[in-house]
Amino acid sequence: MRRCRCLDSVRLERLIEAARIPGRYEHCDLDSYKPINESQKKAKLFIERFLEKYPRIDVGLLLVGTCGVGKTHLAVSLLKHVIHDKGDKGLFYDFRDLLREIQGSWNPVSQTSELEVLRPVLEARVLVLDELGANKPTEWVRDTIAYIINCRYNDKKLTVFTSNYLDVPKRAGEETLTDRIGARLRSRLYEMCRLVEIGGDDFRREIKQAKYRF
Ligand code: ADP
Repeated sequence: MRRCRCLDSVRLERLIEAARIPGRYEHCDLDSYKPINESQKKAKLFIERFLEKYPRIDVGLLLVGTCGVGKTHLAVSLLKHVIHDKGDKGLFYDFRDLLREIQGSWNPVSQTSELEVLRPVLEARVLVLDELGANKPTEWVRDTIAYIINCRYNDKKLTVFTSNYLDVPKRAGEETLTDRIGARLRSRLYEMCRLVEIGGDDFRREIKQAKYRF
């Protein structure tokens, strides 16, 4: 017996909708990522290998690099691949939105956040948490994020983080990832994630601006 094709396409559509990939990144895939230096080539190759091995993978990814080097592009490409080719549940969250939603659903009586917000984040087979460190979380939000990350890790679910904050900043005086998310969470990420550093100039500025000719 084979599953009806239209059922498959309805299911796929639902999975894509539920993944919350921002419109701005809907076009992203590995083919459209054009590496312009060695670290970008390596990063793309790494994601390709990662996907070849998926789902036999038990560590997450932490994609770090300055703004506009294509971290979100690569993370979304990975997410789309998992949804389209494997039919798995994926979810995209901007770190700031997740913090806002966790804070917004805080119930002072039960001293917890509503499960409605956390459930999809805990259940997704692959979660992309974009712009880690973009906001500095308060202590309890940090605890909630650590809880989410721990649960996902223990359930063998993959989390792909992106961050503009490096461990060793390029310029003196810039904050590190540890400054932004705290030493405990950073150390947990060392244990749970493979670090992929991507270097280069801001693609938006260098390439996109060159295309806008009026
Ligand atoms: P980051 O997450 O590192 O700040 P993004 O992934 O948001 O960067 O990239 C910014 C924009 O530039 C996006 O529209 C992305 O699709 C595009 N982009 C970045 N790097 C590349 C690349 N090497 N090839 C094609 N498009 C790229």
